[in-house]
Amino acid sequence: MTKVLKCNDVNPGCSFEAQGSTEDEVLKKAAEHAKTAHNMRAIPADVLSKVRGAIRDQGEAASPELEERIRVRAYELYEQRGKQDGHDLDDWFQAEAELAPQKRFRATA
Ligand SMILES: [Zn+2]
Repeated sequence: MTKVLKCNDVNPGCSFEAQGSTEDEVLKKAAEHAKTAHNMRAIPADVLSKVRGAIRDQGEAASPELEERIRVRAYELYEQRGKQDGHDLDDWFQAEAELAPQKRFRATA
């Protein structure tokens, strides 16, 4: 799962996004970015904990409401399937594709 940090969550107005396969990789990129773009030579502990808290898994639902709608839709699909077990992820992705298609194709550059 790719980890993503949006600098905007910590520095509002900044559109930078750091990505990596681990939290450490994301933090390393974010630190590099903070140094060059925000003139932060070292990241203070309080900012660092804020940054750690702002790291998300890519593909995570954008909002609790959306996640709830996806959950409800996924359950509908599960019922339509005749409550067959073992397809939860398929149902989830299907529901996600219907309700939040833009997430999958979001430009991340
Ligand atoms: Zn930034």
